[in-house]
Amino acid sequence: MVSHCISNAGATSCKTEMKPVKKAIIIGAGIGGIATSIRLAAKGYHVEVFEKNAFPGGKLHVIEKDGFTFDAGPSLFTEPENIVELFGLAGEKWEDHFSFTSLDLSFNYYYENGKVIRAFTNIDALANEVHEQTSENKIAIKKYLNNAAKAYAGLGDVFLNYPLHKWRTWFHPRILKAIKGLRLGYLIGSLHEYNRKSFKSPELIQLFNRFATYNGSNPYVAPGMLSMIPHLELGQGTFFPKGGMISITNALKNLADRLGVVFHFNQEVDAIVSKEGKIKGISIKETIHESDVVVSNMDVYYTYSKLLRDAKKSDKVLKNERSSSACIFYWGIKKGFDHMHLHNIFFAQDYEQEFQDLFKHKQLHADPTVYVNITSKFESGLSPEGHENWFVMVNAPANDQLDWNAAQPMIRQAIIEKMNRMLKTDLEKLIITEHVMTPMDIQKTTSSYLGSLYGSSSNSTWSAFLRHANDNSDIKGLYFTGGSVHPGGGIPLCLKSAKIVSNMISP
Ligand SMILES: Cc1cc2nc3c(=O)[nH]c(=O)nc-3n(C[C@H](O)[C@H](O)[C@H](O)COP(=O)(O)OP(=O)(O)OC[C@H]3O[C@@H](n4cnc5c(N)ncnc54)[C@H](O)[C@@H]3O)c2cc1C
Repeated sequence: MVSHCISNAGATSCKTEMKPVKKAIIIGAGIGGIATSIRLAAKGYHVEVFEKNAFPGGKLHVIEKDGFTFDAGPSLFTEPENIVELFGLAGEKWEDHFSFTSLDLSFNYYYENGKVIRAFTNIDALANEVHEQTSENKIAIKKYLNNAAKAYAGLGDVFLNYPLHKWRTWFHPRILKAIKGLRLGYLIGSLHEYNRKSFKSPELIQLFNRFATYNGSNPYVAPGMLSMIPHLELGQGTFFPKGGMISITNALKNLADRLGVVFHFNQEVDAIVSKEGKIKGISIKETIHESDVVVSNMDVYYTYSKLLRDAKKSDKVLKNERSSSACIFYWGIKKGFDHMHLHNIFFAQDYEQEFQDLFKHKQLHADPTVYVNITSKFESGLSPEGHENWFVMVNAPANDQLDWNAAQPMIRQAIIEKMNRMLKTDLEKLIITEHVMTPMDIQKTTSSYLGSLYGSSSNSTWSAFLRHANDNSDIKGLYFTGGSVHPGGGIPLCLKSAKIVSNMISP
């Protein structure tokens, strides 16, 4: 219903016209799909989401076993404002539905030489800690993070908040600000080279190299531009959502419900239907569901290969190297490790070789970097009293040729030996429950090609331009959202992709 009002000599008369409500279908209830559903519902669309799983969230879901609750996928929460904004669109107060705390300490980094660096989110505290542990010049770290902040505000704004494939993005005054913040080291040379020029300490170079893994990339190949990523975590802050990461999915799904979005679970979409270059809808088991707009939150590779059966376009997607995947062990531990934090990294000794193995040889590294996330440190009820819920993750190649029956016990043993060595413990005896997720499990549950966590990697200076756009040039009314398309993977970027795509769709 649309109202046109005219004011004349103090009197207002309105004529109400019945205008049909437009319909949008979203394929997949990942975080990008749910956020897009909220934005389109707030615009007045009737939105229906078709999800193949029985639950929402995609990678952002939860695993419960033997009294332990584990976040299944994402564990690091940054840029909560992307979520806060969604409640604002619906005219709601986010505080009534979602809660998070800001962390003083983002990560504990453990090195094989016995050093431990606590990465504080206060820049002075971080500079002091790093100076104490590695003798690195305090100015160097402050300068690095200040440059990261400037790059994020200029280049980051253009690359992450607007469609890169539209001319209007490039003819806007904000481009000047972005160019001013551009440094040669961002384009020429790898992130590792940029970090090597910025710091003397090998521990600090390794620490800042790790940020390439935030979008599943190789720091020895990915451009220095990725040096802006630490600004998100160390500059803007690291947060913990009350109830764990699953509370993000739950809060947004409930918000979508309140806006009238209709979710259909256990409904796998088989095809996207179009006619004469215009979207018609989707089909499930030969039933067509018509719609004015279709937004696919399914991995763009599979959207082309399975739903559009377009071999040429799906091959083109693969020209951009896949991001890394992961192998995750969810362990119930019958002990508390007091010196460990929410986020803990146990670094590989030969970091460069680890990435050679992952990206060049497409195999697991024998001494992997191990990430341990323990949410029960922040939230009671996620593990039994005196126990901890360990989410233990190693990077793995996006590769379907690995024999996981053989690889899984081998990498498990390597992790246990490393943890025993670095924590001086006997971990095997402390594990009382276990669940495992391999890249092939990630592919199966979320239809992410080869189980890659972040769609495509940023292993080239031009990756941002090679990542698929949020619309389709051949089919009017077909759009894409989520980690496999622009601006990329990770919760903040998936939420930004929902914003970009809904801004492209007319009201
Ligand atoms: C182990 C792991 C750790 C991670 N760590 C972090 C982290 O710490 N911080 C962070 O920000 N990010 C992290 N990420 C990345 C982050 O989880 C993803 O980028 C993000 O959740 C992807 O969301 P998405 O919207 O692209 O959809 P996805 O989560 O990929 O969901 C897509 C949805 O579409 C559904 N679907 C697919 N095909 C169909 C079909 N044909 N019909 C119907 N439904 C379909 C799937 O079932 C799924 O529910 C991690 C990911 C993993 C797996």
